[in-house]
Order: sequence, then C-alpha cells, then structure tokens
Amino acid sequence: MPELPEVETERRRLAERIEGHRIAAARIDDARLTRPEDPKVAAAVLEGGHVDAVERRGKYIVVRLADGHVLLVHLRMTGGFRYTPVTHERAVLELDDGTRIAYRDTRRFGTWQLLEEDEAARLLGVKNGPEPLGRAFTAAFLAGRLAGRRAPVKAAILDQRTVAGLGNIYAVEALWHSKIDPRRPAGDLDAGEVAALREGIRHALRLGIRRQGADLGDGTYAGGRMQDEFRAYGRGGEPCSRCGTPIAKAQVAGRGTWFCPTCQTVG
Ligand SMILES: [Zn+2]
Repeated sequence: MPELPEVETERRRLAERIEGHRIAAARIDDARLTRPEDPKVAAAVLEGGHVDAVERRGKYIVVRLADGHVLLVHLRMTGGFRYTPVTHERAVLELDDGTRIAYRDTRRFGTWQLLEEDEAARLLGVKNGPEPLGRAFTAAFLAGRLAGRRAPVKAAILDQRTVAGLGNIYAVEALWHSKIDPRRPAGDLDAGEVAALREGIRHALRLGIRRQGADLGDGTYAGGRMQDEFRAYGRGGEPCSRCGTPIAKAQVAGRGTWFCPTCQTVG
C-alpha cells in the first residue's frame, strides 16, 4: 500500500511529464474510479485542461488545472501512473505533446475526485494533519496529538490527522529509528521521546523518498529500493542492526508490527 514516499515518487514522475501541458484527450474506463461522479463528466472536465501544478498532500496527489479544477488522486492499494501501455488501465490521458499517461490499478480501490479549488482545500485540510516533512509538524504538535491517549503509539501515528501520509511500513520503521516500543500507550511518551519520534518519522520518510519508495515485489511501485533498507518491517527473526537481538513481530491495532524487543524501549 503506497505511503508518503511512494506517493511522492509517483507525483514527481507525473509532474515531470504533465506540468505545463494541456490534456488533449481524457478517457476514464472505470466508473468506480470517479464515483459518484459520472466518469464521462469527469473526463470532459479534464479534457482541454491545462495543468499548472502537481502537488502532494498526505497520500493524495493534487493535480491543479488552470481553470480552477483540482483532481485529487488517491492511489489506495495499487494505483499508479504508467507511461507505457500496461494491463489494468483504468484511465488514459493524452497530452498536447503526444505523451500518453495511463492510470493503472489492479485492485481498483484508487479514486479520482474532480473538485473546485476551495472544496479540494477543505477536504485535504479535514483529512490531513500538517505535512510531516514541513515546518508545522513540530514536537509540540505531535505531543498534543498523543497526549492523554491510551491507544498504542503505533496506532496513534497511523491517524492521517496526526501524521499525514504515514502508513504501516514507515510507522514500523519510524518507531525503530526512534527506539520506541510500538505497543506503548501514546500518552505515556515523555517530551524527549516525542521529539525522538518526530525525528524518526521524518528520517524514515526522507529515506523512503530518496530510495523512491518501496517495491514489495508485485511491481506496482517498481524501481523503489527502500525495501533493501528496512530495519524492522518484515524482518522477523533477523538480528536488529543496532543491537543484534532478533526482531520480533506482534499485532498492534490489527496490523503486522515488527520491532526490536531490546532497544525499542517500553518506558
Ligand atoms: Zn535492537
């Protein structure tokens, strides 16, 4: 499932090709992608549109058109853009320079929402907290979100209003980097631990972006190298690279969670 680094990688590749171009033709073949909007109506709005910018907010790709429309793309499980013809194409955009961009999604959970600028801003603001790599994601903000909560810290940081763009993989990695046990109640972290957690989150996400995300073997986010640098995620039984203790696995808030039982402290 794509998280901030995979979405950011998709965004960069899309921006490179589409920014500053006009969408000469748009075709949406899968009604599920745009529902409840009629895919033909959505395609008609896109067609002829000039793309000013492609941004990212949390796990959303935000395509801004010159006419004020905003296309919000959420990749969910397996969505992604392709620049050569592939199977499972759900939509195709053709640009004024002949570039063909296909949206592929084998599991079909991804969504395209075409909104007016203010509607898009409102939706993104409701769904997402501050960008974790931006200035507003301070230790004080994070401390405020965790304070008083009995839920495991890992569950708390998966809330997109706490850490926009974080998912299971980078939460596991961030907690390893922070040396915090994922099962601890969120509200029990002291100020130093919250600061370490903030750093761990930012470090894990930056590393993921540098490695162009993680390719977990199904080819959806092919080219990503982050999987080679996982310190905890999926590494059950392998020695912790910090202390040598075998990495343990547990279910936390219903998700597979890996951690070092020695150097990730229980407080
Ligand atoms: Zn360890």
